[in-house]
Amino acid sequence: MSEIIEPLRGMNDVLAADARWWRRLETVARELLGQYGYQELRLPLLEQTGLFKRAIGDFTDIVEKEMFTFERDGDSLTLRPEATAGIVRAAISNGMLHNQRHRVFLIGPMFRGERPQKGRYRQFHQIDVEAFGYEGPDVDAELILMIARLWRRLGISRVQLELNSLGTPEARREYREALVEYFRVHEDRLDADSRRRLGGNPMRILDSKNPAMQDVIAGAPLLTQHLDAGSREHFESLKQRLSAAGVPFVVNPRLVRGLDYYSRTVFEWTTDALGSQNAICSGGRYDGLVAQLGGEPTPAIGWAAGMERVVLLMQELGCEAPVDEPHVYLVMAGDAAARAGLALAERLRDALPGLRLEADLGGGSFKAQFKRADRSGARFAIVLGDDEAARDVAQLKELRGTGAQQACAQAELPAKLAQALGLDGGRG
Ligand code: ATP
Ligand code: MG
Repeated sequence: MSEIIEPLRGMNDVLAADARWWRRLETVARELLGQYGYQELRLPLLEQTGLFKRAIGDFTDIVEKEMFTFERDGDSLTLRPEATAGIVRAAISNGMLHNQRHRVFLIGPMFRGERPQKGRYRQFHQIDVEAFGYEGPDVDAELILMIARLWRRLGISRVQLELNSLGTPEARREYREALVEYFRVHEDRLDADSRRRLGGNPMRILDSKNPAMQDVIAGAPLLTQHLDAGSREHFESLKQRLSAAGVPFVVNPRLVRGLDYYSRTVFEWTTDALGSQNAICSGGRYDGLVAQLGGEPTPAIGWAAGMERVVLLMQELGCEAPVDEPHVYLVMAGDAAARAGLALAERLRDALPGLRLEADLGGGSFKAQFKRADRSGARFAIVLGDDEAARDVAQLKELRGTGAQQACAQAELPAKLAQALGLDGGRG
């Protein structure tokens, strides 16, 4: 035998038992986003490396150490580590931003070369939502209300919303000086990453996950004290709108977000049900990014939810997921029955479009087929022998509960199944 090929670290095979949870999340999210007027985009997984360097910024974990980058035909290409940069690139490339407003979303995989652990993977998936051309704060509030509704629809509880404002780039410059001054005094307590960031982008230090750094970070000056009047007002109206809509939040003046391009509103939803990978959704306003990537200056805001973590949370909280089991398992005993069986199955599918019917293919003994019928999780078996096939009847047997079995005309099966399974009739 040849050697088996190992899966890649941090990349998951989602098998059937989990896939139904993913389907639930995607279905609910797509429907809800559509209801708020957001339209779906599907974009390449690969972009020029320069896009992410320019958008996300040096001195970020992503650009410094997490990108999957390779050369092809002399170009440096990178698997997208997040969605916003590619969406902005696409909006510019397709001329979507000239005096226009757009609300869009994208669902798909992202790639970051992180150390894999529960809730942290190298290929992970995001639901990413962006609105272009809106100054806010109404859109800021609506985006957050939309997420709150997403949690409600999925049955998710135990989440908390944290909010902050990062002000304008001008306000941040002033703050930056105060930060540098503080961290210079405490330089001996900084780790190597943070020392490097001190010269480049000191705000990134606040985002450090190193436990040994948390004390010195806790003593750092706050951006709140340097907010400009416009940002302050923007933030106040956002908070009022959320309160008016009954969405609770906590202002966290230390929330800075990992990416470089944010301005004003930033927020993060966390949960206490998943251990240390506790951030399930984060976002914010990035009014400067479009221009920074060569487009016309356009206000913009968005958020991204980590789907693996949301799925884990749904499972942890015992939320609902769609069932995959067939309603009916078709057992066919004998040659004539096997020939008639597939046609019968098609007639049932025509009559009942919602029917999940699994036919036993490949034949085998009656006993073996029944074993498979049981294992399938179906509620009913339809049993067709040569004799029944010749008379256009079949046996309908309950596989759960009483196990009752009755002979009935094949023509009556749709009505009987529709009633027992609560299915609508119609054309399949
Ligand atoms: P974290 O603080 O957990 O590293 P982040 O700030 O890097 O998250 P973002 O870049 O804002 O995360 O991405 C948005 C969401 O995507 C996160 O809130 C999280 O749910 C999810 N996410 C980010 N990185 C990963 C990963 N490596 N594996 C799984 N989910 C992830
Ligand atoms: Mg991260």
